[in-house]
Amino acid sequence: MSCNVMACSGTEACASLADGGSDVLDFETARARLLEQARETASIERVRLQDTLGRVLAAPVDAPCDIPPNPSSALDGYAIRTADLSAGGPTVLRVTQRITAGSRGGGLARGEAARIFTGAAMPVGADAVVPQEAALRKGDFVHFHAHPAPLEDVRQKGCDLFAGERILHQGRLLRPQDIALAASAGVATLPVYRPLRIALLCTGNELREPGDLLPEGCTYDSNRYLIPAQIKTLGMDVLAVERVEDTLEATMDAMSSAMTMADVIMTTGGVSVGEEDHVREAIKRLGQIHIWRVNMKPGKPFTFAMLGEARTPLIGLPGNPVSAFLNFALFARPFLLRMQGMVDDCQLTLSLPAGFVWPTPSKRREFLRARVDPCDPLRRVSLYPHQGSSALKSASWANGIAVIPEGQTLSEGDCVEFIPLSSMNLF
Ligand code: AMP
Ligand code: MG
Repeated sequence: MSCNVMACSGTEACASLADGGSDVLDFETARARLLEQARETASIERVRLQDTLGRVLAAPVDAPCDIPPNPSSALDGYAIRTADLSAGGPTVLRVTQRITAGSRGGGLARGEAARIFTGAAMPVGADAVVPQEAALRKGDFVHFHAHPAPLEDVRQKGCDLFAGERILHQGRLLRPQDIALAASAGVATLPVYRPLRIALLCTGNELREPGDLLPEGCTYDSNRYLIPAQIKTLGMDVLAVERVEDTLEATMDAMSSAMTMADVIMTTGGVSVGEEDHVREAIKRLGQIHIWRVNMKPGKPFTFAMLGEARTPLIGLPGNPVSAFLNFALFARPFLLRMQGMVDDCQLTLSLPAGFVWPTPSKRREFLRARVDPCDPLRRVSLYPHQGSSALKSASWANGIAVIPEGQTLSEGDCVEFIPLSSMNLF
């Protein structure tokens, strides 16, 4: 029995951890213990910008040059020298050149103006731009009353980005605007982590494939579709999805072969204490349990373990689909993102008025499928009326999770924690 991967303060604590702990962990302890074990595993590859959406940046990116590379016009108008402005009455200047975006002008002499367009390089000598709306063109001359200050409507060299400026930090999940920012700096490829490879084992003799007949006592396998889809929202690869018979041998075999190919193994079902639950025993024979059971509802049987010498992480999700859904969102997601190299998992918790009452305190922390109507100016949180963990209707209806801590009651209008599903990649 070894505790070398856990921070244990005493022998008793260590003995308890090696078995996953006989105690049910509170939510924060479980999450902290899980995230401590997340180590970046993926190798790094350099990919073209168009292939970087949803990937995690593996090194910081600095702007290689000033953008814009020289002073340019901020709008369509006339580039002028402010020294030529007349004190009273209109200024009249001869228009000697026309500079479009992408072309270069010549120098601007005294008494001259250049017709110029947004983004075009300022001619040497010009120091301001008069907007075309403020100017009247008469043949070769332009007349205006405007009195722009030096540098007005001129974008200075490097005003968007300066050479050497850090534009993207390592560990950032690349969004469209991040990719475009790299492009705007002239960066053509980015170093990103290879997507994690995850194997999923769905345990249960009762499971049947949608489309097949459903004999008495059987259940359609929804986790087989739920978990891979949740993994894909994180931009990771689902290596294999296997259905595993409820025997210790089949469970161990499936885990052993998953260990040879996956960065992370996930299981659903079979993780409680029933005679037909073999996941815990299989883990104990192949590795070590670090977390087993969290004081939450639903999702109590959540399990985390490391298998084999390579210490391949295994995340054991409950069989009930809603429990699996929530355990994935609240535990597996931040763990996987951290393993993928991402610094911030972007989960957001809002404090909003409850549109319901919660009169009886619960011993476990409640994670309730909830909704905020975007048209409600008060942003009240309402609950799905049936919160059972086997029916996915509540999860499909919800746009967030309402969290009620252990021992708490709520009256209507009290503040309740609300985690938008959109902040967990579940739009
Ligand atoms: P277990 O944790 O294996 O005891 O499963 C708890 C409940 O979840 C049982 O009613 C199972 O039939 C159900 N269940 C387990 N796996 C799945 C799955 N892949 N899809 C849908 N329901 C499941
Ligand atoms: Mg089962």
